[in-house]
Amino acid sequence: MAYCPKCKGEMPQTAAQCPHCQFDFPVESPTGEGARTGFAYSPLADFALLVSMIAATIGSVSTAIGSIVAVFHGHFFEGLFIGPIAFFLQLGMLVTFLRVTKLGEEKQ
Ligand SMILES: [Zn+2]
Repeated sequence: MAYCPKCKGEMPQTAAQCPHCQFDFPVESPTGEGARTGFAYSPLADFALLVSMIAATIGSVSTAIGSIVAVFHGHFFEGLFIGPIAFFLQLGMLVTFLRVTKLGEEKQ
């Protein structure tokens, strides 16, 4: 149970407005300015994200080429099973990186 800072009345912890006096106060948001600190938002983390994005791009392209080459050389297990798994894993990572980066830009 929380207490209203204006009328001191009891109110639910998650309420955005006091049920007694309708006092409207800002709700602390976990996505607010205070949450964007720590290792995940450090310059090293930004750099790691950039390098990972480049690695995922190169990795997915080279895996796709490698799969085709493997099939032509008769390595069907590598070309048709391992290759596609590695390709989609890296492509998925790239999509994740791109979406995370876009999300970060929208919030600034
Ligand atoms: Zn109140």
